[in-house]
Amino acid sequence: HLSDRLKKVAKFVPKDARLADIGSDHAYLPAYLAINKIISYAVAGEVAKGPYENAVTEINTERLDHMIMPRLANGLKAIKTDDNIDTITIAGMGGPLIRDIFNADLEKLVGVRRLIIQPNVGQELIREWLMNHSYQIIDEDIVEDDHHIYEIIVAEKVSNKVGYSSLDLKYGPNLRVEQNEVFRAKWQRQMAKKREVLKHFAAANEVPIDKKKVLEIDIKEIEEMLK
Ligand code: SAM
Repeated sequence: HLSDRLKKVAKFVPKDARLADIGSDHAYLPAYLAINKIISYAVAGEVAKGPYENAVTEINTERLDHMIMPRLANGLKAIKTDDNIDTITIAGMGGPLIRDIFNADLEKLVGVRRLIIQPNVGQELIREWLMNHSYQIIDEDIVEDDHHIYEIIVAEKVSNKVGYSSLDLKYGPNLRVEQNEVFRAKWQRQMAKKREVLKHFAAANEVPIDKKKVLEIDIKEIEEMLK
């Protein structure tokens, strides 16, 4: 059942974790982790009825109802104190939505050690949120699955202040140092797209000069980073 994308997310879940998977849909991720004896307990949170019912069906089919609790709830409201959740996964949603889900129920994050986030877009925003809430990015990954490139961000709560440069926030503090093949492919594609836009701008003379400047600066930055 599990996509390469969710397998990469799964890899970051610590042994014996008590997991909350928010926006779980079919609960494939917690089911996989329970079957492989990685987690000891999970909440599969869903805000929508259809996906919630998908989760219930999967949990019952796999006979995991003693370990995985499906909950129909908005965001972190799926988590109860007694769950003693120490790890949260949120995958397959946009960065702005993930940030809003965290901000809506910050008190639910008390006691949670690790956040594993796979935003479809808006990675920069998520890293910024993590920095501002004293989460250190301890690991990152990037994966191509079904012609899409996904980033995974793993963060842990720390007591000290966390500081990241704008390059760290945009490209990922770990990803931009490691620069694996998928990472390079992602940013080469981005750069090619920006060059294409710039070419169209050059042909259309009514485009404001500062729009071109922004693109040129972006392209230069990516070029420098990929060196
Ligand atoms: N996590 C799975 C994955 O990565 O394959 C499913 C991703 S699916 C694209 C996003 C899911 O998030 C949907 O099932 C949607 O109902 C759920 N969702 C969206 N907003 C939510 C919220 N505020 N609280 C809980 N679930 C939410």
